[in-house]
Amino acid sequence: MDLSDTREEAAFRLKARKWLEENLPQGVANRGFALAIDEQTVRVLTEWQRRLWEAGYLGLSWPKEYGGQGASMIESAIFNEEMARVRAPAPLNELGLSMGGPTILEHGTEEQKRRYLPKILSCEEIWCQGFSEPVSGSDLAGLGTRATLDGDHFIVNGQKVWTSLGHLSDWCMLLVRTDADAPKHRGISYLLVDMHSPGVTVRPLRQMTGEAEFNEMFFDDVRVPRENLLGPLNGGWGVALTTLMNERATLALATVMRFRNVFDDLAELGRQVIREGTCTLAPRVIRQTLAQFYVEVESMKYLAYRNFSKLTRGGTPGPEGSISKLLWSELNQRMNEFAMVLQGPRAALAEGSNYSVDDGRWQYALLRSRGNTIEEGTSEIQRSIIAERLLRLPKGY
Ligand SMILES: Cc1cc2nc3c(=O)[nH]c(=O)nc-3n(C[C@H](O)[C@H](O)[C@H](O)COP(=O)(O)OP(=O)(O)OC[C@H]3O[C@@H](n4cnc5c(N)ncnc54)[C@H](O)[C@@H]3O)c2cc1C
Repeated sequence: MDLSDTREEAAFRLKARKWLEENLPQGVANRGFALAIDEQTVRVLTEWQRRLWEAGYLGLSWPKEYGGQGASMIESAIFNEEMARVRAPAPLNELGLSMGGPTILEHGTEEQKRRYLPKILSCEEIWCQGFSEPVSGSDLAGLGTRATLDGDHFIVNGQKVWTSLGHLSDWCMLLVRTDADAPKHRGISYLLVDMHSPGVTVRPLRQMTGEAEFNEMFFDDVRVPRENLLGPLNGGWGVALTTLMNERATLALATVMRFRNVFDDLAELGRQVIREGTCTLAPRVIRQTLAQFYVEVESMKYLAYRNFSKLTRGGTPGPEGSISKLLWSELNQRMNEFAMVLQGPRAALAEGSNYSVDDGRWQYALLRSRGNTIEEGTSEIQRSIIAERLLRLPKGY
């Protein structure tokens, strides 16, 4: 594995870095790994995505005929790395770009690719992921939202929950049960659903950060044209796996870079409290804890390189994405918890207080990070995937 850029890649990196420095959007609050939801941020990030798209920096590895740039995966990864390096916020349609698009590219018909992909890139249509239900999150294949065929339409009835950005979305990647008698994995289909259809109700759910990033969604006799079926009827489970593997894999290198930024900020906080003498921990303990975090961020980086080099050799994202997911989600929680320890009594002060550290950014991140070990599959589920599919251990019960 050669980690250095070729001459062309280095030139591309330099050009991208310069463009990013000149075009970075201003005035976006540091929300770490959370999605944008307040009106002002949504406006800025929509505009930001359009600028990225017009400059030719979105869909870098997607084919040109669907609005992509037809460049290599390596260029795409370089650009994502540079985005993270300058701390650029993610474009608004993050779920469409990282999950919906790659799934349509792999399983869509020619018409579906031409219809949906360009508008995902241009941010004309925002996407959400309607997988989880009140009684089937980890046991996703147990989902109960039904779709029955009525002529040229599916009629959808049921409920989804935790749908990130559902309230802003135009389209939904929706998993439905189309054969109730088949074994549970074989009776599921994957529909592309227009969120503006009659019968779709979206209700925001408030999180402990005080924000409402996700929603519950209700489907009452929603009519979905048959041509919006993605992949085979009753073959939606395989299509859903593509979405899930992409969710865990595509942005891995950029995630590492974003962690380096968090680590650098945490190290700065450590230096600051040592200088000020405001932390009861001995400087030696602060240094050792930071060194341990550094080692973990570096191991995440090499793991991401290994997974990425498999992808560039023509592989598809596989269960190894679970190792990265487990590492980053648990590390994020521990780093934010350590930021609280460093702040001592000031840890109790959140955003808005005159005396909060870094305007309460760490307090917000700590609360938001609790969801990290739940979203995209819980830590327990990731450990089971690693045990069964990577280590080939016998199934546990
Ligand atoms: C911030 C956030 C954003 C999200 N966004 C979306 C979204 O956009 N779209 C979407 O569809 N979903 C989304 N989700 C939902 C997420 O995918 C589910 O919450 C997750 O899969 C867990 O499902 P659950 O909440 O039903 O928990 P459960 O499945 O009920 O799990 C409860 C507990 O039991 C444990 N458990 C369950 N089964 C097993 C098992 N077999 N072995 C060991 N332990 C087990 C779990 O690890 C967990 O600790 C989001 C969640 C969060 C927190």
